[in-house]
Amino acid sequence: MEPRDLSSHTVYQAGRGIEEVARELGLNPDDLVKLASNENPFGPSPAAVEAIEDAAGSANSYPKASHADLTEKLADEWGVESAQVWLGNGGDGVLDYLARATLEPGDTVLVPEPGFAYYGMSARFHHGEVEQYRVSKMEDFALTAETVLDDYDGERIVYLTSPHNPTGKRFDLDAIKEIADETGDHTLVVVDEAYGEFADAPSAVELLEDRDDIAVLRTFSKVYGLAGVRLGYGIVPEEWADAYARVNTPFAASEIACRAGLSALDDDDHAEKTVETAEWAREYMYEHLDAPTWESHGNFVLAEVGDAETVADELQRRGVIVRDCSSFGLPECVRITCGTKDETRRAVSELNEVLSP
Ligand SMILES: *Cc1c(COP(=O)(O)O)cnc(C)c1O
Repeated sequence: MEPRDLSSHTVYQAGRGIEEVARELGLNPDDLVKLASNENPFGPSPAAVEAIEDAAGSANSYPKASHADLTEKLADEWGVESAQVWLGNGGDGVLDYLARATLEPGDTVLVPEPGFAYYGMSARFHHGEVEQYRVSKMEDFALTAETVLDDYDGERIVYLTSPHNPTGKRFDLDAIKEIADETGDHTLVVVDEAYGEFADAPSAVELLEDRDDIAVLRTFSKVYGLAGVRLGYGIVPEEWADAYARVNTPFAASEIACRAGLSALDDDDHAEKTVETAEWAREYMYEHLDAPTWESHGNFVLAEVGDAETVADELQRRGVIVRDCSSFGLPECVRITCGTKDETRRAVSELNEVLSP
């Protein structure tokens, strides 16, 4: 007995964890700074922590009321119907629901290269095939309608990441609209706004008002600091609403996740502090890093450092973990998450020392 042929399936490469690196290098975890996974440097909102503690006692029941409450709250915030909000086990879980709701075996999807690995993985899990559009470094990773449409060939799903991981670039709403207009009626445009809160730009959710071919992805993992509880959601066209009940894993968003999400949404101070610090950190990195960077709309900055693997290893020995972008197909770049001010200053100063001849 063997699993099915998984040879075309890739393994998700996560940023390295503090404990893992500390153990390997014999360092004290408290001396390490992890700026490799675009996590929130301030931790979760204190209100969410309290909600998680309070929810511990109701962990015996399935999350029915909390799921309904969170869906309704999000629907209110976005001005959509509750049925248009699809909660999932992280944004990644929602990507699975969208693939499950659309793909027939052999259907093809179009993903950015470089880009977020899970789009292709999720499509393959659902027996889809994967084609790529090129986000070109020669063009400073510009994200325009042509970037996508030049490589579009009737795919069933087109994934747009805005802001884009790992470059930090974003699509204008006009470009997203043009892509949705120019692609076929059978093509769903998924706009992944995992970093949407960090961009000073409107969400693509407003485009759903008069379209049935765009879905938007959001997550609690980044600005809300809840990556560890696994909570994300999609906002889908009204026409798609009833598909959720047919494709979702029952209770994939846990009681603890839903309660945490409800509280996090009320903590504007935590979200504002997070966004303001990320804006500060981006500027600080552009200005003080002795390496070329690209303007970013996310909570991270891409920097060109030469041999990224060597630089990331050396930086790690100095206690700063960043993301070597070799697995994104950018072996000369590292991606540095915006930390607290102290963490960001330390990362920049250590990186500059590593880079100095
Ligand atoms: C982090 C991230 C997500 C979602 O992550 P989850 O933790 O599963 O919510 C989705 N897309 C991109 C581009 C990301 O960087």
